[in-house]
Amino acid sequence: MIQYPISQQQLEQLIEIEKPGWIERARYRTDNFSDLGYYHESSSIWSEVKVVYMRLQYGKCAYCERQLESEEYGRIEHDLEHFRPKKKAKSWKLTRALKQAGVVLTAPISGTTDPGYHLLAYNLLNYCTSCKSCNSRLKSNYFPIEGIRSSGGADPLQLNSEKPLLVNPVGNFDNDPVSLISFHGLFPMASGNSDYKRHRGLVSIAFFHLDDRRRKYLFRERANIIVSLHSFLKLADLAANPEEKSVYEELVNMTTRPSAPHTNCACCFCELYNQDKDEAYELFQLAVSYLQSISV
Ligand SMILES: [Zn+2]
Repeated sequence: MIQYPISQQQLEQLIEIEKPGWIERARYRTDNFSDLGYYHESSSIWSEVKVVYMRLQYGKCAYCERQLESEEYGRIEHDLEHFRPKKKAKSWKLTRALKQAGVVLTAPISGTTDPGYHLLAYNLLNYCTSCKSCNSRLKSNYFPIEGIRSSGGADPLQLNSEKPLLVNPVGNFDNDPVSLISFHGLFPMASGNSDYKRHRGLVSIAFFHLDDRRRKYLFRERANIIVSLHSFLKLADLAANPEEKSVYEELVNMTTRPSAPHTNCACCFCELYNQDKDEAYELFQLAVSYLQSISV
């Protein structure tokens, strides 16, 4: 995961250009939910602005950083995802490893669900796009927190007081995912510098199965990136002249920029290569072994 920094105002401008009048329609609907005290409507309009988030995220899933199809062909592959669920927040079950790591979830007020965040159904800072595996299969209506739940909240910034345990990649008001999750080769690791930040990284990794090798295509993409990147870095080091060097450096830049898939994984590998080439070589070999192991 990486952050796609943008303000509410900038999002409003982009959406007004893409879909004039949408913000006013969305505001009207939010006023209705406010009067009702819960989310209810016969049909929604958020898919109309999905493309704005697809562009902002360079066509990548906000959570697993896989790059999906282009704007012209990929709208079906991207889900417009509500970071905080609009209708209900289901109770998520902690794994044993997370319990052992000291993570404690806030229990629902009653039963197994909390009310959803009805005032955020049309909040621009509550959206991102994600792949169907991350959204439909894993995210669903869960929203684990470790603070006090405020389902009636209308401002995502103030709702940080809930201590959400998932990382929000869109906006400029929350922890940068890169400060919470880093990569050692193919594997993500929690890297926050406080208990809460560490918990956020751990839960986000476990929640989206980012370290589960059964997410085979995710791991294969990371492995391919590490193998390519190691070659580019090595070739840049060995280049015979500045022209040749700049070609390989440009390839490194292209592989690590935010628009590339798995930027967080690629940047961490690049950083390691610059600090410890032997360890980077070991991780390169592990990536090669992984690719061999899934090759049939
Ligand atoms: Zn995904």
